[in-house]
Amino acid sequence: MIPYKHEPFTDFTQEENKQAYQEALKKVEGYLGQDYPLIIGGERIMTEDKLVSTNPANKEEVIGRVSKASRDLAEKAMKVADETFNTWRKTKPEYRADILFKAAAIVRRRKHEFSALLTKEAGKPWNEADADTAEGIDFLEYYARQMLKLKDGMPVESRPGEYNRFDYIPLGVGVVISPWNFAFAIMAGTTVAALVTGNTVLLKPASTTPVVAYKFIEVLEEAGMPAGVVNFIPGSGSEIGDYLVDHPRTRFISFTGSRDVGTRIYERASKVNEGQIWLKRVIAEMGGKDTIVVDNTADLELAAQSIVKSAFGFSGQKCSACSRAVIHEEVYDQVVARVEELTKELTYGDPSDNSNFTGPVIDQASFDKVMSYIEIGKEEGRIIAGGEGDSSKGFFVAPTVIADLAPDAKVMQDEIFGPVVGLTKAKNFDEAIEIANNTDYGLTGAVITTNREHIEQAREDFHAGNLYFNRGCTGAIVGYQPFGGFNMSGTDSKAGGPDYLQLHMQGKTTSETL
Ligand code: NAD
Repeated sequence: MIPYKHEPFTDFTQEENKQAYQEALKKVEGYLGQDYPLIIGGERIMTEDKLVSTNPANKEEVIGRVSKASRDLAEKAMKVADETFNTWRKTKPEYRADILFKAAAIVRRRKHEFSALLTKEAGKPWNEADADTAEGIDFLEYYARQMLKLKDGMPVESRPGEYNRFDYIPLGVGVVISPWNFAFAIMAGTTVAALVTGNTVLLKPASTTPVVAYKFIEVLEEAGMPAGVVNFIPGSGSEIGDYLVDHPRTRFISFTGSRDVGTRIYERASKVNEGQIWLKRVIAEMGGKDTIVVDNTADLELAAQSIVKSAFGFSGQKCSACSRAVIHEEVYDQVVARVEELTKELTYGDPSDNSNFTGPVIDQASFDKVMSYIEIGKEEGRIIAGGEGDSSKGFFVAPTVIADLAPDAKVMQDEIFGPVVGLTKAKNFDEAIEIANNTDYGLTGAVITTNREHIEQAREDFHAGNLYFNRGCTGAIVGYQPFGGFNMSGTDSKAGGPDYLQLHMQGKTTSETL
C-alpha cells in the first residue's frame, strides 16, 4: 500500500489552477437552487419543509433547498441504521476501508468542484476551501489505513494451552452532528471514522451547509457504500438533535460544534432512558479561545504575520483561530504596530473573487454576535484596525484588532468566532503563559520565541491540545498533527490521530482453552 501522505494544496498563482477553479465555480453555479432529499436506507425522501441554504456573501443566492427530517423521519432513519448494523458490523474491515479509498479518489477528481461549493455555501476563500477539501480527502485516506492496522486487534499474551485475543468491535448506531465551518472535512471525517469502524450512521450536518454534505453522501454511494449505512437526515438541531441524542438505540454521538450545544449533548447523553441497555459514548469537539504568545526574543515579523494569518484566515471562523495574542511588554508596541499595518492591508469581500483575502461570516446571527463583541471591545480596549461591518448584501465584517485589553476582558475570554483578535501585554514569559491558560478552553496555541528554555516551559505548562512553536496556531494536518482540545474545548478525541478510530469501537477479549 502507498504510505499515507497529506493531500497537497493547490497553488493558485498558477494560471491553469486559477482557470480550473473558475470553471468549478461555474459548474457549481449551474446547479444552484435545486431541491435535495433526505436519504434513509438508500431511499430518497423529499419533504415539504426545507432548509434553505444561501450564500453568506450574497444572501439572495440560494445554494439549495434541502429536505428537513421530522422526528418521524429521524425515527425511521434510526430503525434502518439499527437494522443495517446487523449486517454492516460483519463486513470485513478491508471492504469498508476500500470504500473510503474509492471515495477519496472520487473527491480528488472533483476536488475543485467541492471547494467551489464551499466557496459558495460557506463563504470560503479559494485557498481555505481547497484546504477544507484536502483535509476531507486526508481523513478518507488516513482512517482507511488506520482501520487496516486495527483490524486484527492488539497483541496480548497467552499462557501454554490457552489462546487469547483482543479485538475491536463496532459500537452500534452513531449520531454524527457536524458544524458548518469545516463543512466538508469535519462532516466527512467524523462520518467515515464511524462507518469504517463498522458502525452505522445518522448524519445531521449543520443547517447552514447541508448541500455539500449531500454531495458527499452521493460520493460514498458511488464508492459502493451499501444503503442504510449512512443515513442523511439534515434538520434543526433543536427539533431532531435532542431526539436523536436521547434515543435509547443511539450508541454514541460524535459531535463537533459549539460549547453550549456540546455540553448539552454530553449532559443529555449521560441519562439512561427507558429501553436503553448501554452507557452512551460522546465524542465532543467544541470551541476555543486560542492564544499566540510572543516572547521578547521572538522574530517580530514572524510573530505579527502568525497572529494576522491565524486570526483572519476564513474570517476567524476556525475553532483553532488566533483570537488573542499575549505579547511581552518589551516588544508589545512593535508587534502591535506591525499587526495593525498587516491587518489594514487585508481585503475582504465576495470569496468567489480570489483577490479578496477573506469573505463573509456565516449568517446574520454570527454577524450580529461579532458586531456586538466589537462594541464591547470598544469599551474594553482600543480598536486599531477594522471595527466596521455591513450585512446589506452578505455578512461582511472588517478584520478587527483590539489592543490594550486586560487579560480578563470579555473579548479576551469568550469565543467570538469571527475576524476579531484581542491583544494584551505580559510582564514576562511566566505571566504570558499564565494568561494563555486563563480561559475555560484549551484547543490550540502558539509560542513565538527563540528561547529554547521557554519552548520547553510552554511544552509543559501551556495547556492546549495543539501547541505550535514559531508558526501560527491554525492548519493542523491529518496524520501529522492530531487535532483536539482540553477543558471546555472537548473530549480531546484527536481527530486525524492514531487513536481516534478506537473511540468508535469497543475492545473484546476472547480466551480459548486449547
Ligand atoms: P453549533 O454548536 O451551533 O452547531 C453544530 C451542530 O450541532 C449543527 O449541526 C447544529 O445543527 C447542531 N445542533 C444544534 N443544536 C443541537 C441540539 N440541541 N442537539 C443536537 N445537535 C444540535 O456550532 P457551529 O456554529 O456549527 O460551529 C462552530 C463551533 O464549532 C465553534 O464553537 C467552533 O469552535 C466549534 N468547532 C470546533 C472544532 C473542534 O475540532 N474542536 C472544529 C470546528 C468547529
